[in-house]
Amino acid sequence: MKRYYFDHAAATPLDPAVEKAMKPYWREIAGNPGSLHWFGQQASAAVFSARETIAKSLGCGYGEIIFTGSATEANNLALRGVMKSVLNDRNVLGVVNDKTTDRTIRTAGTDRTMIAGKPKIIVSAIEHDSILDTCKDLEKEGVEVVYLPVSKAGIVDPASVAKALDERTVLVSIMYANNEIGTIQPISEIAKIVSDFRKESRIRNKELGKNPNPIIHNSLFDLPLLHTDAVQAFNYLSCNVEELGVDLLTLSAQKIYGPKGVGLLYARDAQVFVDDKKTGTVRTIPPLEPLITGGGQERGMRSGTENVPGIVGFAAAVKRTDVMREKEVRRLSALQKYFLEELHKFAPKVALNGDRGKRIPNNINLEIPPPADGKGSAQDLVIALDLAGFAVSPGSACAAHTCAPSHVLRALGHSPVRAMSGIRITLGRQTDKKALNSLLRALRNLLKN
Ligand code: PLP
Repeated sequence: MKRYYFDHAAATPLDPAVEKAMKPYWREIAGNPGSLHWFGQQASAAVFSARETIAKSLGCGYGEIIFTGSATEANNLALRGVMKSVLNDRNVLGVVNDKTTDRTIRTAGTDRTMIAGKPKIIVSAIEHDSILDTCKDLEKEGVEVVYLPVSKAGIVDPASVAKALDERTVLVSIMYANNEIGTIQPISEIAKIVSDFRKESRIRNKELGKNPNPIIHNSLFDLPLLHTDAVQAFNYLSCNVEELGVDLLTLSAQKIYGPKGVGLLYARDAQVFVDDKKTGTVRTIPPLEPLITGGGQERGMRSGTENVPGIVGFAAAVKRTDVMREKEVRRLSALQKYFLEELHKFAPKVALNGDRGKRIPNNINLEIPPPADGKGSAQDLVIALDLAGFAVSPGSACAAHTCAPSHVLRALGHSPVRAMSGIRITLGRQTDKKALNSLLRALRNLLKN
């Protein structure tokens, strides 16, 4: 039986050029990048060169990239790392969250500063679980989290970000493209709002003679910071961090035809004078504290021997994606349109979840109405398609082999039953019209039963 893969949002096959680039780093150049000898230095040079390639694509400095073991880890580092930095507050001696009074108490030498309220994070209700579950955990540690609603089409309203921002806000984290319904969020507009808020609060506090950042005393950064999870976006949208206006950005190699087991967090550096009284030296530091400590790799932000083949493969995948992006967007947009037109000829009641225009071109998330006899569900359809050789994904969250209504579809206003009725078809570089026609034939057969 011929098998067809339509689950590129979950994982993508390794690009042959990526595999070739990685090959020498399994056996021939297998040194530890931390070693002094030739083998170590070759590995170290490969990691450096990969970092430069990716930095060029993102429009950032090479020192602003932190390689991680996954996008999940990068998202955790963004949220927990920034919060850790805030709660540790580099420039004060101690910070405690007083749970009884709900106040953050800072002690800087003899100066005790009281800041009203909890530190706050703003996220959208449709973020990936690696953001949402991390938020739930941070809530237990005394952080307030605001979950912004989305429109029926699955888009965050930038005005809702503006409304939620206040002086306690440390971080805003809004994904660039959604993994279930593919909707593209207005990150540049949100960035402008965050940046304006920072400017205004700096002016306001200066006028009041107050510290510019009530949450971080003497902060090296203007708060709040803006993070975007661009894992699903990178294949189809440029992720230049300056153009987007973000301070932190997450990527994953395995979603862009690179290897599994490697992700990254871009973290904007601040240039600061440290030890200025003594030496006046300038140093750059990222706005976050590490979660994994040890050998001091990744400038101390993520210890552990670097995944050399993975990092080399990541850079090769980035390079290839940058070259292919424009053409793939055009090709997949045409295929996406073709599929929906053909589908609606025999299944007019099947609706598309998420915005039709503001979505990445590989995503087709369908709402399958339950059959008249009430028997069978979208998950049964996914299984039936799999048995016929077509790999698609249920729209609901079946990550840990238990199926719950999709939190993304719930956020669109769907009932729990409707939120279980989605199937996600995600196209990729290998998808052509012939494959789509085969899938359409299979769907026509299964939907009439
Ligand atoms: N963020 C988004 C938007 C995703 O789609 C995924 C995975 O599907 C992740 C984060 C987590 O990626 P990983 O499982 O590779 O850590």
